[in-house]
Amino acid sequence: MPASIRNAVLTALSVIPTARSVAHIPVRGGDTTLPVLRSQQDTCNQLKQALTGVNGTLFPSDGATYEDFEEENYSAACRLPAACIVNPKSAQEVSTVIKILSQTGTKFAVRSGGHNYIPGFASINETGVLVSLSNLNTTVLSTDKKTAKIGPGNRWEEVYGALVPQGVTVVGGRVGPVGVGGLMLGGGLSYFATQRGLAFDNVKSYEVVLANGSIVNASANNQYSDLYKGLRGGGPNFGIVTNYELYTFPVGNFSVDARAYNTNQTDDFLRAIAEYQQEGQLDPLSSVSIQVLETGPTIMLLYNEPVQSAKAFDAFYNLGSYTSIAAFNGSLIDVLALTGSRFSTGNVSTYGETFTHKVNADLNVDLYNIFVEETANLPSGASGAWVPNPIAASVATVGKQYGGNLIGLQEVPQQWYEWFITWTDLTQEQAIWNISQRITQRCTAATAAKNASLPYLFTNTAGMEQNVLGSFGSKNVNTIKAIAAKYDPGQIFQKLQNDGFLIRKL
Ligand SMILES: Cc1cc2nc3c(=O)[nH]c(=O)nc-3n(C[C@H](O)[C@H](O)[C@H](O)COP(=O)(O)OP(=O)(O)OC[C@H]3O[C@@H](n4cnc5c(N)ncnc54)[C@H](O)[C@@H]3O)c2cc1C
Repeated sequence: MPASIRNAVLTALSVIPTARSVAHIPVRGGDTTLPVLRSQQDTCNQLKQALTGVNGTLFPSDGATYEDFEEENYSAACRLPAACIVNPKSAQEVSTVIKILSQTGTKFAVRSGGHNYIPGFASINETGVLVSLSNLNTTVLSTDKKTAKIGPGNRWEEVYGALVPQGVTVVGGRVGPVGVGGLMLGGGLSYFATQRGLAFDNVKSYEVVLANGSIVNASANNQYSDLYKGLRGGGPNFGIVTNYELYTFPVGNFSVDARAYNTNQTDDFLRAIAEYQQEGQLDPLSSVSIQVLETGPTIMLLYNEPVQSAKAFDAFYNLGSYTSIAAFNGSLIDVLALTGSRFSTGNVSTYGETFTHKVNADLNVDLYNIFVEETANLPSGASGAWVPNPIAASVATVGKQYGGNLIGLQEVPQQWYEWFITWTDLTQEQAIWNISQRITQRCTAATAAKNASLPYLFTNTAGMEQNVLGSFGSKNVNTIKAIAAKYDPGQIFQKLQNDGFLIRKL
């Protein structure tokens, strides 16, 4: 991509400042009633004996090397000082790790890419061990090119980098640096959702390390088919996924048109999202990526064929003047070069939440106004971004056709909101937390008042107090509980896992 376009993208789409600091929004603790049989130090020493490879087990005393691994978490608030970080290099080593943690009663957290921004989910403080899966990062395309086996420690840019030159891709993340493991467990919103459902609807099999250390392969038609189904919604409640076998499909070039609109067009833009959902989004090859910022709305119109001015995007074309950020025909890798540039790591903390509603143009405007009112009170230096994700009814339909999942989606067009706040000053934590709570409460109430509520909460963008599993409905929750009881009878993943969307919190 030419440097001029790249710079324009950086300027128009960048929302994350780069200053460094460490902030901590409230950390949910694990189950403190469980007796810890050995000190964390003893457990870490035992892990060090067992995992002998380079950086197998890292201690804070390892200095910069340890810090490099600690800093893999996307949000600075999530970079907690674990007693040690273990880096297994195979499912067999993950099995060894889980056996040691289980036998010693040591708390742990599991991290793939570390992009979840809830402190304590893919991170843990000195009370436990961080199991980092970043070494499980192979992508292996089958010889018939119909499936690919993908390690959870990959970033999506690595996965597409391995597959796209072979003419195929998988349903995965929209931003290059995001991790595979967590995105897949949480559903996974891609550029192909309207046509192919969520990422986890496209899994052929999962390799999972269970609480007792056994390594199983779960697919739709084998003896672990219940576990396979459970992993389409039940997330981290059953075991550690050490490989995802995904169905592939041929991929060519896309038409990409990224635009910025003025703030005085914001209301029309928000209404246009509803219009797109009612008409344009019925074209399964279309996809949009939106951020509404203080400087105005930005959108990437992406069409899964290199055509000019696809009719699907008429609602946005009709808005009139705009600033072009980028317009090109290119591969998925080119698309990632555009979206990846939006995000910088640095010591910036991020936190956000989610909610879902039925299509309603007026509500789109009302909700954004609530966000603007609340974020006007943000402390200096903090900033917010409003991210509507228009979801077609077909996402639920395709999910059912591909074997079904446990998230209880209704087959209607819907809006999955993601909004987030970034900040760099540790002392602002409480103020940001309070504002976050108010945004979700007020938006949820406004949605209910317009009779537009939908219960679903998108795992991948949900906040720490949100009842994600509960939003799937009681039947699905009971299924998840039954599968967890079968595969983790000792409740290791409930009692020892630091935090997450766990059934122990229901
Ligand atoms: C910049 C950015 C862009 C994003 N874009 C998208 C997008 O396009 N589509 C989308 O759907 N989401 C997106 N997300 C959200 C993203 O899916 C979540 O943050 C997700 O958790 C990232 O996966 P990860 O591997 O980094 O997860 P982590 O933060 O490592 O883990 C998340 C949770 O899953 C658990 N977990 C992770 N791996 C495993 C495993 N192998 N076995 C068992 N438990 C595990 C962790 O313990 C933790 O509870 C984005 C997030 C960011 C910050």
